[in-house]
Amino acid sequence: MTEEGIEEAQEPGPKGWCVCGQKVAISDAREVTLPNGRPGWEGYCPECGSPLFAIRRKAAGG
Ligand SMILES: [Zn+2]
Repeated sequence: MTEEGIEEAQEPGPKGWCVCGQKVAISDAREVTLPNGRPGWEGYCPECGSPLFAIRRKAAGG
């Protein structure tokens, strides 16, 4: 049962700009906290395998 064009996955997943110049979905992303105290995502680029990092957006409001 394979369906093509499934854009809306159960979980969008974090995305970030990789050094390869493409906006990719961070592979093996996990929540991390920066030394600054800001929340972020840490993972790898599925395209080139380079380590990726993205800043998590703050909750609405505040
Ligand atoms: Zn990449």
